Amino acid sequence: MNQLVEHKLSCPYCGESILVLIDTSVERQEYVEDCQVCCRPIGFDVSIPADSLNGEIDVMVSHENE
Ligand SMILES: [Zn+2]
Repeated sequence: MNQLVEHKLSCPYCGESILVLIDTSVERQEYVEDCQVCCRPIGFDVSIPADSLNGEIDVMVSHENE
């Protein structure tokens, strides 16, 4: 099942709210995507809890170039 959900979070660089699409069919994924506002690379660490019943997802963001 390939299901994309929108997730809102704050950019670790500029603090702006951005909307990202998360593929919830993948249990654990890490990737880099540029911020839509400041264009700096944000590292995403996404995990979908196995017992998630209400579409709850955990998203951690980090500075990619430290
Ligand atoms: Zn930003």
